[in-house]
Amino acid sequence: MKRIDDSCARPVEFPYPAQRSSSAPIFPAAAYLCNSPEVAAELMSGQAEGYIYQRDGHPNADMFAELCREMHGGDEAIVTNSGMAALSLAMLALVKSGDHLVISNQLYGRSTQLFKEEAPRLDIQISEVDTTDIDEVRTACRDRTRLVVAETITNPLLRISDVKALAGVARACGAALLIDNTFASPAVCQPLRLGADLVMESVTKMINGHGDVTLGLLCGRRDRWDRIAQACSTWGFTSGPFDCWLASRGLATLHLRMERASSNAQKVAEFLQTQDCVESVIYPGLEMHPDHLLARRQFTPAEIGGSGGEALPGRFGSMVTFTLSGDLPAATGFIAAVAKDIPFCPSLGEISTTLSHPASTSHRGLSSDERRRLGIGGGTIRLSVGVQSPEMIVRALQKALSGLDERFAIDV
Ligand SMILES: *Cc1c(COP(=O)(O)O)cnc(C)c1O
Repeated sequence: MKRIDDSCARPVEFPYPAQRSSSAPIFPAAAYLCNSPEVAAELMSGQAEGYIYQRDGHPNADMFAELCREMHGGDEAIVTNSGMAALSLAMLALVKSGDHLVISNQLYGRSTQLFKEEAPRLDIQISEVDTTDIDEVRTACRDRTRLVVAETITNPLLRISDVKALAGVARACGAALLIDNTFASPAVCQPLRLGADLVMESVTKMINGHGDVTLGLLCGRRDRWDRIAQACSTWGFTSGPFDCWLASRGLATLHLRMERASSNAQKVAEFLQTQDCVESVIYPGLEMHPDHLLARRQFTPAEIGGSGGEALPGRFGSMVTFTLSGDLPAATGFIAAVAKDIPFCPSLGEISTTLSHPASTSHRGLSSDERRRLGIGGGTIRLSVGVQSPEMIVRALQKALSGLDERFAIDV
């Protein structure tokens, strides 16, 4: 009989070999068994395909990355443990000391910190430009420019960069174009099909969509990929199996969620425009938005495997930014009044509608002058519109705004 202390728990095979589960299994294994030294050597050298150690790769990451790769129309894709890890991976794998990067002056706060505070410590030079101005980008490019970095839709002003034009400028100076597509998601925009070399996503936001995972994605062309997989494992940016499994579940409904959320966002933006105590509304789906025509052209996702360019009108994303007259006191009152229906959550891309207050969260690091120049005031609110009924969302906003009309009657 087996001694109790000799029966260490080991993974078991699926008991019925003729069957498969109808949903993806989770493989939490930290390591995989090798059949022989010969097989081990082949796996280690990359001659044979397979898994050895979770940090180097695992089935749940590969299954999720493959689905994302298909959506983006890339050659390669890799999952990282956060959006920032994906961005750091791109920088550390493709750039070395003495190189130069051109970055957007409206990047996500942590991305700006990565490029302006961490990169210079590695002797990487940075030029910050307005990437909606192609001439500014062209002028900033130098011989040693290796990466041009921009976001499809910026936070919180929702400005849109022309990916095709940026790709042309980057190519002309021998740099790769890296697009942070987090606010759009592949359901709204597929930058690789527009000429970008690399695209990154914070999977944490739209792609997972349920607010319960932190992950990132880097996807790109084969000719930029030489160092990516190795650098990902060496710097330790790899993802966990359970997170990848959850994100695969989220990805399955991304198209449905973004279609509903975009259509809701259009209705919300149009409603907000009619409100007396709302000073300004920013949404790429509004004709008055400075990049509306570009958005119409660029946000036309192809069917998977298609060549792009098939218009799916009304998909301008799920983010809406507006500014209340009455500054911070108005915003504070509004946030408190709407909190039961639309909570203040300094993230985005969840199934339910949430809001954020850029001046106190994502943009608190800027001086109030800098914020004013950008058009972000104490009264600025950023909505992440969810998939609830548009009636419910508009009713919640209307109720909270009508309270403001009374309280801020003198300001209005
Ligand atoms: C959240 C976010 C990131 C960073 O992603 P994490 O998953 O939080 O690391 C990068 N870019 C944009 C635009 C984001 O919104």
